[in-house]
Amino acid sequence: MRIDRVLANNPGPFTGPGTNTYVVGDEVAVIIDPGPIDGDHRRAIEMVIGDRRPAAVVVTHTHPDHAPLANPLARDLGVPALGNRPGPDFVPDRILSDGSAIGVPGVDLVAVHTPGHSEDHLCLRLGSTLFTGDHIMGGSSVMVEDVAAYLGSLERLAAFDLTRLYPGHGPEIDSPRQVISWYIAHRLQREGEILAAVRAGATSVGEVVEVVYREVDPSLHPLAARSVDAHLRKLAADGVIRILSGRWRVEGDSK
Ligand SMILES: [Zn+2]
Repeated sequence: MRIDRVLANNPGPFTGPGTNTYVVGDEVAVIIDPGPIDGDHRRAIEMVIGDRRPAAVVVTHTHPDHAPLANPLARDLGVPALGNRPGPDFVPDRILSDGSAIGVPGVDLVAVHTPGHSEDHLCLRLGSTLFTGDHIMGGSSVMVEDVAAYLGSLERLAAFDLTRLYPGHGPEIDSPRQVISWYIAHRLQREGEILAAVRAGATSVGEVVEVVYREVDPSLHPLAARSVDAHLRKLAADGVIRILSGRWRVEGDSK
């Protein structure tokens, strides 16, 4: 099946080279993650659709680099906008939950609910191909909101027989098994480093970031802080650490 990628002109620390919009289908066109409101990007998408018949606009999640163009584009193309739930700049015409087919003849896309990066995150599966949104990016680490959910979603994807991934940012991935394993291992490694930092005396998100992300460009520290916060909450839910008077400490440490 024909799959075209249209790169939005929004590169940055959160978006890598920019958001990938995908146009999928032979006779019809399903648009995945149209991206931010941007006239040039919109014209590029319409150019790629060409004489295919537009059938649906789908968003993987409602972050501002993925969803804001979805409703206006869908309205003008006369097709429904689909997603897991409403977000700041997105209102779905139809809700997709885990296992929902998008319902476009000729494009058998099925939603896979993959919470973790965000609660509303969907991957979209087309046979052995998976559009991964921000759940898996082109080989780079992902900002995670809920670590336990994120790992659970990766484990689910690992059970699918996938041959190719199309991420929301960065290049296509031809070795899904290795990449999914890398993401799981990377998260567990971070968890180990974060727990070690708390054991060594770090008591706040900022202090943990200073230790664990000291090799990383400080401009990315606010992003890292969100993942560290999510990891600390998971470790607390696991009963390994706890917060006392606003300071994180290892469970059982009475100091
Ligand atoms: Zn995102």
